[in-house]
Amino acid sequence: MDFKKYITDVPNFPKEGVVFKDITTLLNDPEAFKAVIDEMSQFVKEQGATAIVAPEARGFVFASAIAYVTGTKFVLVRKPGKLPRKTNEVEYTLEYGTSKLQMQQGDLTPNDKVVIVDDILATGGTIDAIIELIDKEHAEIVGIEFLADITELHDKELEKKYKVKSLINY
Ligand code: IMP
Repeated sequence: MDFKKYITDVPNFPKEGVVFKDITTLLNDPEAFKAVIDEMSQFVKEQGATAIVAPEARGFVFASAIAYVTGTKFVLVRKPGKLPRKTNEVEYTLEYGTSKLQMQQGDLTPNDKVVIVDDILATGGTIDAIIELIDKEHAEIVGIEFLADITELHDKELEKKYKVKSLINY
């Protein structure tokens, strides 16, 4: 399936000069969404993953369905103040300023084989922060997958270190 045609380019969102990749049009199409979940689930099975880690909010949309299909545990990465138990926290750089992400301690164990799931890879800042959170729990990262990769916005370091899959490349 040509997944690209289900993504809508939205110029000047969230600010002037940015072309936002809107994945909600894909979610609005049940057949396309199912095909995406099936293909992303296949990757998780191939890597022999025991856990899926994903960030809010769009990462959750895909990760939850993939965890259900593959029978793996789903571990949440969230913005500060959302997770109730003791967390690890990582600060990361955005285009302007910084942000923080948290994961609860003990949600992953050192025996876990993790696939990280998110909708879009842009600069790579978010994914680097998630990797750091997983490393703190000494779990193994066996793969990283995205619906779409905006390749011009990041270097190739991630692909050198990890098995990375994207269904769409820009
Ligand atoms: P990065 O940290 O710059 O790689 O940005 C990736 C994060 O920002 C992901 O969690 C995405 O959900 C979100 N993101 C960045 N660009 C877009 C976009 O064009 N459409 C939808 N989400 C985006």
